[in-house]
Amino acid sequence: MSTNPPAPAVSLVAGDESTLNHARHVNYWRRCLKTYLPDAYTSNDSNRMTLAFFIISALDLLGDLQKATTAEEREGYVQWIYHCQHPEGGFRAFPATNFGELRNDENKTWDPANVPATFFALLTLVLLGDNLERVKRRDCLEWLTKMQRPDGSFGETLGENGRVEGGNDTRFGYCGTGVRYILRGTVEGPVDNVPDINVDKLVNCIRMSETYDGGISEAKFHEAHAGFTYCAISALSFLERLPLGVVSPSEPSPHDDRMRGLSNLNLTLHWLASRQTATLDNEDAFDTNEDETGSSTTSHNAHSFVKLSSFPSRVGEISYQGQPTSHVEIQWTGMNGRCNKIADTCYAFWVCGSLCTLNQLNIIDQVALRRYLLDKVQHLVGGFGKMPGDPPDLYHSYLGLSTMAMLHEQGLKSFHAALCFSNGASQHLETLEWRRKIVGNGDGDERAGARAGESDGMQADHTAFG
Ligand SMILES: [Zn+2]
Repeated sequence: MSTNPPAPAVSLVAGDESTLNHARHVNYWRRCLKTYLPDAYTSNDSNRMTLAFFIISALDLLGDLQKATTAEEREGYVQWIYHCQHPEGGFRAFPATNFGELRNDENKTWDPANVPATFFALLTLVLLGDNLERVKRRDCLEWLTKMQRPDGSFGETLGENGRVEGGNDTRFGYCGTGVRYILRGTVEGPVDNVPDINVDKLVNCIRMSETYDGGISEAKFHEAHAGFTYCAISALSFLERLPLGVVSPSEPSPHDDRMRGLSNLNLTLHWLASRQTATLDNEDAFDTNEDETGSSTTSHNAHSFVKLSSFPSRVGEISYQGQPTSHVEIQWTGMNGRCNKIADTCYAFWVCGSLCTLNQLNIIDQVALRRYLLDKVQHLVGGFGKMPGDPPDLYHSYLGLSTMAMLHEQGLKSFHAALCFSNGASQHLETLEWRRKIVGNGDGDERAGARAGESDGMQADHTAFG
């Protein structure tokens, strides 16, 4: 697993730049936690575990979780999550399908555990300081192996006759490997007689989703997409199957004969960096037919092929005064998710999260992206909208805030890109006693022992799931 890269040497914030309106974001997220959500969220009731994660994690990133809630309230949230734990392992996405004592073999297919909900439930428990001791870890990991298809992909729920339902794209592979990482670290093979998922098959499945231009798509022969790319890279990180040298360039991996994802790392980085765009809404268009700009002396013309009112730049203003210093500099740039698409707040996260895990966040223009997030999509009432002028929603607000954390914004906690929450929460996970027995104490001894135990069952002291 990689950690966040060190803070940039040069501050992203000039004296007169916008800043994160910390107080407004706190207000927005407290309101989401303590009052009813707007009716537009009604159709999202079945995703309530995910919404809960966004809210709790946002307040944690803002350093406000302990202030906004009492210890009793936090324990109440923990109880609610455990109430959503499924009797056969994993977690429900919301409580409404719980039949309680009326549950039987006939109706139980309507009450499945859900792979993303299980990932978000575990993350939220960690955020709330829980030690995961009440998680049915053995049942959960056994259920997880049933969620993998023969082609290596993961689905969302288990349907009738053990059929794996849901898409086969990297979203579920990400959440599934996230659950595995939380409950048993990166150790491969059975632990305490609980079988492992088929790691090689999942890695192969991800490789099949790579596209000619270096991104990751939904499935073979589809178009590359930043969301699927983030999920694939994070899953490979959870599995320690990123290309050699990504995580720690100076140390060769001791397991370099294992199959790894991302067959052409430089191409993937090129694709990710190319997602940065100045096309911020439907009105924006680049038309270079009538305009050729050849040298710095004519650089003032460069601004006529972008929509002038939308893209004033400081360098441009200087160039109009007859002092061109640069060919083109654009003040705001967002990220898109696919070629030729307009920017969207969430793609700032999918791209930056991918680059962060690959330790390459420095290859994009972080200053212009920061301006875009703060000037264009940060909302007056707090939170972030999808596009300029849009009202904030939980999804874009969380991913916008997380991107700001990856850019080391003042007032936000440092961020673990693959686990999608703060490094502080990640550290709490690493300290859990039962988990340390499985993954070792960081010196690799126990982990090496666990791997050696793959052939003969398991080491005797791996009784974490008992
Ligand atoms: Zn979006």
